[in-house]
Amino acid sequence: MKRRRLNAYGERLLRETPVLETLHGLDPGGVDEVLRIAEASAEFARLHAEPRALELDERMEQDPEYFDRELVRTAGSYRLFSMVVPKVLGGLAGKYMLTAASLGVEEICSACAGIGNMIAATGLGACPLLTPGGMPHWDTVLHEIVEGEKKGEPVLMAYAITEPSAGTDVEEPHFLAQARIGMEACRVKGGYLLNGRKCFISGGKEAKYLTVCAATDRSRPLETWTVFLVSRDMEGFSVPRVERKMGQRACHAAEILFDNVFVPEENVIGYEGDGMSMGILAIMAASRGPVGAVGTGIARGVLKNFLSWARRERGGRKPLEEQRIQMEIADMAASIQECRGLILDHSLAGDKVFGGLLVNPMMKALFALPRELRLSRPYLSFLHSRLGKVTSAHLLRLLVSEEEMTRLLALASLAKFASTDMAMGIASRALQLMGPEDSEERRRVEKCYRDVKVTQIYEGTNQLNRLTWFMVEQEGSLRIELPKPRR
Ligand SMILES: Cc1cc2nc3c(=O)[nH]c(=O)nc-3n(C[C@H](O)[C@H](O)[C@H](O)COP(=O)(O)OP(=O)(O)OC[C@H]3O[C@@H](n4cnc5c(N)ncnc54)[C@H](O)[C@@H]3O)c2cc1C
Repeated sequence: MKRRRLNAYGERLLRETPVLETLHGLDPGGVDEVLRIAEASAEFARLHAEPRALELDERMEQDPEYFDRELVRTAGSYRLFSMVVPKVLGGLAGKYMLTAASLGVEEICSACAGIGNMIAATGLGACPLLTPGGMPHWDTVLHEIVEGEKKGEPVLMAYAITEPSAGTDVEEPHFLAQARIGMEACRVKGGYLLNGRKCFISGGKEAKYLTVCAATDRSRPLETWTVFLVSRDMEGFSVPRVERKMGQRACHAAEILFDNVFVPEENVIGYEGDGMSMGILAIMAASRGPVGAVGTGIARGVLKNFLSWARRERGGRKPLEEQRIQMEIADMAASIQECRGLILDHSLAGDKVFGGLLVNPMMKALFALPRELRLSRPYLSFLHSRLGKVTSAHLLRLLVSEEEMTRLLALASLAKFASTDMAMGIASRALQLMGPEDSEERRRVEKCYRDVKVTQIYEGTNQLNRLTWFMVEQEGSLRIELPKPRR
């Protein structure tokens, strides 16, 4: 593959990320795609997120329901919602999809983690559809995300697993087995009736589609945990409120009410009862690394503002001239670099699994069929049928192993808790060193301090992520089970 001449952004990113530079030597075309996505994210961050960050934060403190649709349209013009949509559908996700997503998320969150989460929520919501069980919805929902961007009206998604009585409990099989679940999906003719509440759902207020996990028998939540694709226009779906938040205010955290919402059988993703492995653990194995990147992004934002503050003269002296400040800055840079390494370990390992699936020749062959054929009734009926599900479960087992997936979950959890704890520490330290003097830099660091807290909570609290790593790597007591083909 011919090497493209890199621009200044690409040169800098590769210099700062030696593992990517080495990979670029081996696979210039693949890494060029990553650089393009990271650069688009960086440009959006610089031109649109950073200038709006403080103002949006203040506005949404007063009015948590406010939604900046114009900013969403702008993000769409940079194709930021297509980052997770496979290239075979016109999206941007190729063989290094996780690496590109992690770098992209870091860039946006270095300017504003609230705006970053508002964008990333769609990627998270789309994740369950990217499993082979979600394939029947590729040409409809995922295609719509690409088309929405083209038309200037991005289609948003969200991921809903948390319930008022079960947060940590729904993210780990041993806990889910004993959880008191409130929401239930009752089997009825042709589908399921969903009743109950989900809470804290990022982007849930404006999402057109949500991937929702619910038990079909509340007394056996682990065995019956199932992923459903829900559309906001389904009868009985409503958003009673959004939270008033301390940080990441630009992204709504919504409560969702399901009042007899009928979800057709075809909207079950994969098999009923496979929700813990395929709807939670496999998703977390992909997404916790990028959540770590929210942390490194915020930490970069802190460092940038701290440096700019330290360069300004006060009383005839600049803080940057003091060796203690120089050492603090070196420590911050070292911590960020260290955590970036963990995130890249995860994303490159994840690209071997998920990226490998996307560029697999069998997958490509399926999508070489004309779109009209892929949307035809017989083809969709096959995908939704028992035989279709058996075929996709076999396909998954052929291409991925349970060991690989489980190891990825451990890497993801490690990157997540280490990077977000690191960012919390850096934000706290910088704020303390800057003291009480008001300045724009200090206001931005103070916002980072508020924004970072929730990264230690969502996608599994950092306590849970530590336990997950321990259970996989030390005890061997946690394992992702791939769907067993069932007739
Ligand atoms: C702003 C925001 C956005 C969010 N976005 C989403 C979203 O998009 N979709 C979604 O589904 N959810 C989302 N969440 C929910 C989030 O994932 C949960 O808040 C999180 O899993 C923790 O659950 P909880 O709040 O019920 O806390 P709890 O589970 O009640 O935990 C409270 C404390 O107890 C600790 N703890 C609990 N159980 C154990 C245990 N067994 N061992 C050790 N310690 C334990 C926890 O670590 C924590 O410190 C979001 C939350 C917030 C705040």
